Amino acid sequence: MAPARSAPRYTRAVAQPVLLLTNDDGYYSEGIQALADARESLGEVWIVAPDRENSAVSHALTLSRPLRLNRMADRRFIVDGTPTDCVTLGICQVLKGRTPDLVVSGVNFGANMGVDVHYSGTVSAAFEAVILGVKAIAVSQVLGEPFSFVPAAHFARLLAARVLRNGLPDGTLLNVNFPPVPPKGVQFTRLGERCYTEGVVEDTDPRGRRCYWIGGGPPVWEDIPGTDFATVGAGYVSITPLHLDMTDRDLLARLEHDGAWDLGGA
Ligand code: MN
Repeated sequence: MAPARSAPRYTRAVAQPVLLLTNDDGYYSEGIQALADARESLGEVWIVAPDRENSAVSHALTLSRPLRLNRMADRRFIVDGTPTDCVTLGICQVLKGRTPDLVVSGVNFGANMGVDVHYSGTVSAAFEAVILGVKAIAVSQVLGEPFSFVPAAHFARLLAARVLRNGLPDGTLLNVNFPPVPPKGVQFTRLGERCYTEGVVEDTDPRGRRCYWIGGGPPVWEDIPGTDFATVGAGYVSITPLHLDMTDRDLLARLEHDGAWDLGGA
């Protein structure tokens, strides 16, 4: 006769959510550390971040050389690559076999509003998570005096809890910009429009050769109601839902009705 099986014991802890944090300011940025501190109580927190600043690298992926992944502490890693490399290594290597429940990118030092999202390593890291089928949010602290990452990190924790509870549609992320003042509230927004003044500044290097700086001059924003820029300017936290699919559906529908192409025998 088989020995009697002991009754099942329900002592196993409920699985905590697994959170992967990254950024584009680098592992040593206070922004990601504030995020990690605010998140510890929300679940199991892992950091995979670039070993140095990678702002404005957009969605760059390193394919031309091998990457190094260095363990700094328990669940803390640096990569000599881009934010996108970090998310890829974080999901496919560090957390292999345990898909994270959420990727949080930030807290970035400075805004990521309007067309900035196309240059932003912070936002692109979140998009990389979305591409790999993981929910993601990107969080940026708009510059101001005095400066602190802590309120934005605290807000990111609240938003992360909400996303873990309610989910997000496939292909979508939330891009948060936190105002430089104590926020009056939260508003959902669309991307603003920015004009670049003095896009390129010409200079001369110490050897007398001409050289150029991109991004000189302060950004000038169009103050359009409902945009991230206007909302942050009014003292609110801005949350813009962004979709990976950049297809212009209105134009697509019109183009489809433009009539058949005559390729002239091509
Ligand atoms: Mn940055």
